[in-house]
Amino acid sequence: MTPQSSPLPKVLAIDDSELIHRLLRVRLQHEQIELHGSMVAVRGLEMARELQPDVILLDIEMEGMDGFEVLQALKSDVDLQDIPVIFISATASMEDRVRALDLGAVDFVAKPFEVVELKARVRSALRVQHLVKMLAQKAQVDGLTGLWNRTYFDRRLSQEVSESIRHRRPLTLVMCDVDGFKKLNDERGHPFGDMVLERLAKILQSGRGSDIPCRYGGEEFGIILPNTSGSEALEVADRYRRAIEQETWPSAVGKVITASFGIADISVLPGTQGVDDLIAAADSALYKAKLNGRNRVEAANINQSTG
Ligand code: GH3
Ligand code: MG
Ligand code: MG
Ligand code: MG
Repeated sequence: MTPQSSPLPKVLAIDDSELIHRLLRVRLQHEQIELHGSMVAVRGLEMARELQPDVILLDIEMEGMDGFEVLQALKSDVDLQDIPVIFISATASMEDRVRALDLGAVDFVAKPFEVVELKARVRSALRVQHLVKMLAQKAQVDGLTGLWNRTYFDRRLSQEVSESIRHRRPLTLVMCDVDGFKKLNDERGHPFGDMVLERLAKILQSGRGSDIPCRYGGEEFGIILPNTSGSEALEVADRYRRAIEQETWPSAVGKVITASFGIADISVLPGTQGVDDLIAAADSALYKAKLNGRNRVEAANINQSTG
């Protein structure tokens, strides 16, 4: 999985009036959106969790849980609090409007509404949401290579480690470090070095969709392989290693650039281990690959190295 843009934006309407849903379905059918709806507030909240919509249209007057309560529930859930909410209400009192906005709604439309106005407000909320999402993603993507950056790597690896421990699923971390990169920079210049990193990133992105290649820093990459055992990861890493070795460099004909790899399989680490242990194990395997001559893959064998 690599950083990528998303498909059609999703709009979720929560309103207890069948008429409103029918109206929205008919009048928004040609908009570039995926429309979902619920007539029950509690179900609407569940759908918000499942769908992670880009905008929520929320009625105030509903049986049981009203719109204000739904909004509060949304705002107190870290996974839902950034979704923009547009209130649609028949009793548009000044107090209600102020309260809705104070609780974090981005907009307010009075019923009966002009559909053109509603569409414009939905589009506007979607634009803002798109920017917010893009900025959030940008903060996690490496500017040079387009791979996930260190911030994302740290967060994702700790997630994957917890999942792996909880569900007893395999997980392997591969660390990759370009060989003799300092010399390459010195000989060919930094722009050439940068171009090499971009190309290597393309190679690391060419694997399975479930691989998570990240730029760990400098000329080092960390590839998270969920559901992958150490022996499978050895093959994956060796495929990457060979692809790098075989790459041709138009501005440096005949030049062979190589990288070394260290692998740590969470299941060979003794006891319940954390992220730092996994990284340290992959790092020491990488160190071993460097010591043993570079352009090779080594796996951490914890039992051996800990005696
Ligand atoms: P080894 O085979 O032991 O890994 O040697 P090395 O030269 O690759 O290792 P070292 O850690 O000494 O050098 C890494 C170099 O990577 C130093 C730094 O100038 C360079 N580097 C780090 N980030 C970038 C970058 O974004 N662009 C370029 N062009 N060079 C970078
Ligand atoms: Mg209602
Ligand atoms: Mg290095
Ligand atoms: Mg290096």
